[in-house]
Amino acid sequence: MGKLDRLAEITGLDVIEHLYQLAHWISEVNVVHINSTREGGGVAEILKNITPLMEELGIKVRWEVITGTDVFFQCTKAMHNALHGRHVVIPDKFISEYEKINAENAERLRDVLMDADIVFVHDPQPAALISHFPDRKGKWIWRCHIDISRPVRSVWRYLKNYVVNYDASIFHLATFAQHLPHPMFLIPPSIDPLGEKNIPLPDSEIQSVLSQFGIDPDRPVVVQISRFDRLKDPIGVIEAYKMVKRYSPSLQLVLAGGGATDDPEGMTVLEEVKMAAEGDPDIKILYLPPKSDRVINALQRGATVVLQKSIREGFGLTVTEAMWKYKPVIGGDTGGIRLQVVNHHTGFLVNSPEGAALRMRYFLNNPDKIEEMGNKAHRFVLENFLITRHLRDYLTVMISILYGLKGRLELV
Ligand code: UDP
Repeated sequence: MGKLDRLAEITGLDVIEHLYQLAHWISEVNVVHINSTREGGGVAEILKNITPLMEELGIKVRWEVITGTDVFFQCTKAMHNALHGRHVVIPDKFISEYEKINAENAERLRDVLMDADIVFVHDPQPAALISHFPDRKGKWIWRCHIDISRPVRSVWRYLKNYVVNYDASIFHLATFAQHLPHPMFLIPPSIDPLGEKNIPLPDSEIQSVLSQFGIDPDRPVVVQISRFDRLKDPIGVIEAYKMVKRYSPSLQLVLAGGGATDDPEGMTVLEEVKMAAEGDPDIKILYLPPKSDRVINALQRGATVVLQKSIREGFGLTVTEAMWKYKPVIGGDTGGIRLQVVNHHTGFLVNSPEGAALRMRYFLNNPDKIEEMGNKAHRFVLENFLITRHLRDYLTVMISILYGLKGRLELV
């Protein structure tokens, strides 16, 4: 049984049939996705899930990853932070490295990219590739995964010089879109319910993962899964935990996450988090190796409450993953978290450690609410954020870009 058949058992057969009908239009098309890391972070997670399904639909698809130096990734992380609105200075030597690495990758990938009918370029890291393909034959789409609603203007102006050359761009939310001279599409991300990170797990496995990390399954545990990144506010999570701990001494906190090859700040932030934990044995700081999908799955399922207290967030796949597992989420009131956490229904939106603490206490004191809101959270993901919806959106964008369709596409 193919994966699409197994997905049909979750989504209904009509959803999968529509995908095949759409894919039929582009069966001869060469598609390439490019990003800057094969593991760690949401973009890699999505590409890992979506490219095999495109293949199963009969589409010729490749996933390429650009390679870079430390200085290049320092530059792109600074750009990332600036586009999220944090004031950072990007030295000229970083910018030169950004341009140089993009030029080198353009040469390395020239044949693949010249041959492509559609190229999805994900995020700012590889955005400058396009400037090396003035005679490209395919359509190039810039796929933005970050919240650029309030960017540092100078950094956005620089990047925009590249982005304007694309044939289209895709954002998660309307508020992220910018003035650009080409079609813009809104497509939120998704999770794969059949991936190791989201499949149901036996209770015994969840218990064994918890005990492996010294987490007591009989006491409440609050979990945040994230790369160690200041924008995920791990220190704010610890502050919130400390406030609640005074009233609920049995509370435990898990902050778990690994690095991403395109994020050079992880280790520094990890050290900051360890300092903030002040040796509290009930705070477990777990630096996870790549391919920890089942462990993350178990931690999310074993959580009493899941937090994603980000200060800025493009989407927050960890929120979707937790909601799929019937966990309401206490999430930062920002970016893509707002799209998923419907306040008081699928979780709570918070703006401070105090707010997070208040909501944590509420859940700890009202376990029936965890169940009620968790059920709504699961349903919301089923209806809006599964990979099948994401695929349908991508296929529709490709058809519309290739055929210039302005009217309706009839699916039976
Ligand atoms: N993730 C992971 N290992 C880690 C930390 C995170 O596999 O150590 C996954 C996480 O489960 C989610 C993705 O990486 O699927 C993070 O996506 P999100 O949109 O939450 O944040 P990003 O890292 O892209 O800012």
